[in-house]
Amino acid sequence: LTLLGIESSCDDTAAAIVTGVPGDAQVRASVVEGQNALHARFGGVVPEIAARAHAERLDSVVADAMRGAQVGWTDIDAIAVTAGPGLIGGVLSGVMCAKGIAAATGLPLIGVNHLAGHALTPRLTDGIAYPYLMLLVSGGHCQFLVVEGADTFRRLGGTIDDAPGEAFDKIARLLGLPQPGGPAVEQCAHAGDPKRFALPRPLLDRAGCDLSFSGLKTAVLRARDKLVAAQGGLYHADRADLCAGFQAAVTDVLAAKTRRALDHYLELAPEKPTLAVAGGVAANTALRTALEEVAADTGAVLVAPPLALCTDNAAMIAYAGLERMALGARDDLSLSARPRWPLDRQAAPLIGGGK
Ligand code: ATP
Ligand code: FE
Repeated sequence: LTLLGIESSCDDTAAAIVTGVPGDAQVRASVVEGQNALHARFGGVVPEIAARAHAERLDSVVADAMRGAQVGWTDIDAIAVTAGPGLIGGVLSGVMCAKGIAAATGLPLIGVNHLAGHALTPRLTDGIAYPYLMLLVSGGHCQFLVVEGADTFRRLGGTIDDAPGEAFDKIARLLGLPQPGGPAVEQCAHAGDPKRFALPRPLLDRAGCDLSFSGLKTAVLRARDKLVAAQGGLYHADRADLCAGFQAAVTDVLAAKTRRALDHYLELAPEKPTLAVAGGVAANTALRTALEEVAADTGAVLVAPPLALCTDNAAMIAYAGLERMALGARDDLSLSARPRWPLDRQAAPLIGGGK
């Protein structure tokens, strides 16, 4: 099967061509056009600007992906598109583009959950078998999932407030670093002392796999304000130490909870477990190193996709569409865009369309 994938749920306009079968597929082209420059002066993604930029760029991004893969419409079996969750204007732009192509070419349309795209990425990059334990850590989400099939996810726990990615972004904003905050904070943390500030490890001792990041964020804010009050501003070393301390706290909490989730998972599937990680925050090197340690200690195999496939892209959407298509899933022009769409529950509020 060859699928065109389209992704526009946040601030990346993306299209990709993926060919293969479930568990054995190749990325033939993957084009991602970011919008950082458009949102930079607002200190965050502005939904209306994002939606407009997606609408303007989708056609050329799709054309670039098809040119890159050297395919025409007759080589393509279906169009997979992110149908949620995400910023609704952007999701609608992508769904409308996909519907237009489907109407013009007669190709089948397959709506994909953006989170399923992230969660199935290790099947695309490493061909790992079901079931596996997934730590999904992104800009808007943080959860432990048992992935049993392309449409079967069991949630073991997750954040009760902020997602780590949005926490990284907020810390960057607090410290005057550029967006997206994750890479900026990671970079700044290199030179820092993670022990200078005593930052909390929220929910570390609580049973279960739930996490919390908002208290940690507030603690960084307090530490910053104290420094600013005492010395009138921040020195570079202060920023580096705050970034390093914050990153260490996030990493400690995620590693400890991953250990817990693996214990739970081992009760369900006692064979040698596969631990996979995906989502934008999985690009963080300190986190990857900590998870490697957890995997080594517990006898699990860690699979972490290459960075370009951890952050938003359309290859993961094309691939998730391919898996759903192989299961017999088909959508039509009544496909709806969903602002919210939990992975483990199909029922979700709909916008537009019929179903
Ligand atoms: P979601 O997938 O939950 O809808 P999203 O699509 O916006 O959210 P992703 O593109 O998966 O999220 O990830 C983007 C997030 O990843 C941003 O918050 C960014 O700061 C974070 N991120 C990217 N690189 C790093 C890094 N090296 N360290 C930490 N965080 C990072
Ligand atoms: Fe994402």
